[in-house]
Amino acid sequence: METVICKKCGKKFGYGLVGIVYPGGKDRETADCPYCGETVASIMTSQTFYVEKMEDDNK
Ligand SMILES: [Zn+2]
Repeated sequence: METVICKKCGKKFGYGLVGIVYPGGKDRETADCPYCGETVASIMTSQTFYVEKMEDDNK
């Protein structure tokens, strides 16, 4: 899992890829900030991004 600080809202979260890698099933997947929705990563893959909050919402 990658840990990033959102450029837009400054909050920290993690993201990674899950799922099966298979040829021919590639689609555009984006990892979006769970706090503000900013897209931080975008790749062509057959997998799916998951994101995990690393800070409380009410900080
Ligand atoms: Zn954000």
